[in-house]
Amino acid sequence: MDCIFCKIANKEINSEIVSEDDNFVVFKDINPKAPVHLLIVPKIHIGPVNSLVLKDKETISGIILKAKEIAEKVGVAENGYRLIFNVGKDAGMEVNHLHLHLLAGKPLQF
Ligand code: 5GP
Ligand code: ZN
Repeated sequence: MDCIFCKIANKEINSEIVSEDDNFVVFKDINPKAPVHLLIVPKIHIGPVNSLVLKDKETISGIILKAKEIAEKVGVAENGYRLIFNVGKDAGMEVNHLHLHLLAGKPLQF
């Protein structure tokens, strides 16, 4: 499948990986919107939020728990952070593989 996040998860494309386990890879966004801008990505290909089904529930809970773990690991848990799922064109979604943005490192404005 021609999916950029599958290629990052498979190491076919380089990225700045900050954490990895059997299920998720976490790497720095190439175009950061905040001092800390990480992407939490399941290693298996799952589509965006509007395509999720009940059998994806472990991935859905796991991605949020991973975000919490990573926020602690990179030292932003105390000051706070924002988690974002972009869905569809009005949200500016570019990549059709489920991913959770973690933004932090300064007071964030909408
Ligand atoms: P979306 O808008 O789909 O929610 O977010 C996709 C994000 O992936 C964007 O913030 C974009 O900067 C990031 N991105 C796209 N291609 C690459 C890449 O090849 N490497 C990395 N590290 N980030 C990427
Ligand atoms: Zn994919």
